[in-house]
Amino acid sequence: SLFLCLVLNQDTTQSGRTLFCSSRRTDVVSVTPWLAPIVWEGTFDPVLVDNIYKPMNLTIATTVFAIGKYVRFLQDFLDTAEKHFMVGFNMRYYVFTDRPHDVPSVNLTRGRHLSVIQVPGSNRWQEISARRMEIIQTTIERQIRREADYIFCLDVDSKFHARWGPESLGRLVAVIHPGYYEQTRDRFPYERRPASTAYIPMDEGDYYYGGAMIGGFVEDVYTLTKVCQTRFEEDAGNSIEAAWQEESHLNRYLLYNKPSKVLSPEYLWQDFKAKTKEVKVIRFSGVIKNYADVRPN
Ligand code: UDP
Ligand code: MN
Repeated sequence: SLFLCLVLNQDTTQSGRTLFCSSRRTDVVSVTPWLAPIVWEGTFDPVLVDNIYKPMNLTIATTVFAIGKYVRFLQDFLDTAEKHFMVGFNMRYYVFTDRPHDVPSVNLTRGRHLSVIQVPGSNRWQEISARRMEIIQTTIERQIRREADYIFCLDVDSKFHARWGPESLGRLVAVIHPGYYEQTRDRFPYERRPASTAYIPMDEGDYYYGGAMIGGFVEDVYTLTKVCQTRFEEDAGNSIEAAWQEESHLNRYLLYNKPSKVLSPEYLWQDFKAKTKEVKVIRFSGVIKNYADVRPN
């Protein structure tokens, strides 16, 4: 493998990087047991990845919900996305809100657009969370499938801090929840009641994925939202609500429909959490919020 490095070195001097030697991380696992990449800083060459994806002229859709007081998070979310998120790509933001007049005006760079879609408010945050899946699904049917190649569905109470680029693109993409990447699976907060359609037995499960990000090809995310919503409603019909609502259904779905790419917790950190040594860069994180202040109840 030293030989390989030397050979490859000669080929990649343009960017001054090496493909193998410098990109190997030995302190983290960078591939899943089903051979999907787990994206950590140092496992990819950003210049190379950009050069592969930029000529494809892709359009990326980003859905974000800002219902009720959550409109206050839009400004930072959008400003920081313009600085760090899929820079140089065609971007279509879809902002779902019950307060269209409170959506801030943001300077978008060339090739980037924002549309505001009015949706009803709600007094239960659990319901807002559940309805996200349904609204994403109907908006894909109505327009996104004609307007974009890939989609990311993100939490609005978040900010970008560093590059989040096309290394994150794949057929079906999920992110490892920052609270559980060091834990064994018996500690994952999956839904454990067999009565729920989100049920995962104690001896199953790969990772605990965060519900604040789902991504992939528009059609793959469409199927995911459709299945999760159907199961959520089936549970509701049986008067059962999964432990972490849509996140529980997402985890169940991804156990049997493996993601083709997994993002490390660099792509979903939490501001209250101290950085650990594996995390060389925080790209996106959930801001600290006072629940009593922002949620309807
Ligand atoms: N959300 C919203 N209004 C609400 C509650 C939630 O718009 O009153 C949306 C918003 O996009 C938020 C997402 O639902 O980012 C998930 O809810 P939240 O961030 O409160 O969940 P947490 O990340 O704290 O688990
Ligand atoms: Mn959140």
